[in-house]
Amino acid sequence: MKKMLLEVKGLKAEVAGVEILKGVDLEIRAGEVHAIMGLNGSGKSTLSKVLAGHPAYTVTGGTVLFEGKNLFEMAPEERARAGLFLAFQYPVEVPGVSNSAFLRLAYNTVQASRGGEELDPLEFDDLIREKVKVVDMDPVFLDRSVNEGFSGGEKKRNEILQMALLEPKLAILDETDSGLDIDALREVAQGVNTLLSENNAVVMVTHYQRLLNYIVPDYVHVMVGGKIVMTGGKELALELEERGYDWVRAAA
Ligand code: ADP
Ligand code: MG
Repeated sequence: MKKMLLEVKGLKAEVAGVEILKGVDLEIRAGEVHAIMGLNGSGKSTLSKVLAGHPAYTVTGGTVLFEGKNLFEMAPEERARAGLFLAFQYPVEVPGVSNSAFLRLAYNTVQASRGGEELDPLEFDDLIREKVKVVDMDPVFLDRSVNEGFSGGEKKRNEILQMALLEPKLAILDETDSGLDIDALREVAQGVNTLLSENNAVVMVTHYQRLLNYIVPDYVHVMVGGKIVMTGGKELALELEERGYDWVRAAA
């Protein structure tokens, strides 16, 4: 039996006083690739942000266990240290902070909590230059401010670089495909694929099926109105592309 990483039961959450998640159930085990699909506004990013611990969202019901521990008793940075990673749909720009300094801080924080070795800037430089190859990124982006003036695609690539560096147990990639042209999509997907193992899992949040040609999911979930209303295999994504979402809503 594969190890349970994430167990979401009846999760409800609101933002600005409005209930967005209305009872989400989801189980993710090590070695699995999941896709969460759904129309704009169905609550996909809200689910991602609630799991990561975004302060704007209030959990109003349900439970989430991460490796058996109550996720909501962990601060956002503890979740990250425990191996939960979220690549944002809209990555933030951090002017004045160099990408490599930011990445080294994130890396050393995670290393410290895992009892691993922390790296000084020179040692880190060797490591990060290996990692940029995984995502096919130009190393010049290491010396620029975090995401400042990056194109949409460059920001997405930078998110996957973080993932490659931090080696999370569970990575949630929110619309990582949006803003990527087809070549960039293939390169980024290849990067993600090389990071996948029997010990970790990835959740791709997307409303296009094209990413799933490159990172093949074991499970496809469909979110409608703040709930996962249908789960299937990779063929479900193709069916959604062909038939749209109306029939799912009708079936739900
Ligand atoms: P998706 O990622 O599936 O497109 P979201 O989770 O971003 O959907 O949004 C779900 C709903 O929650 C939308 O109706 C959106 O307007 C609303 N919502 C999300 N974040 C906020 C917020 N910070 N304030 C108000 N409404 C929000
Ligand atoms: Mg979204």
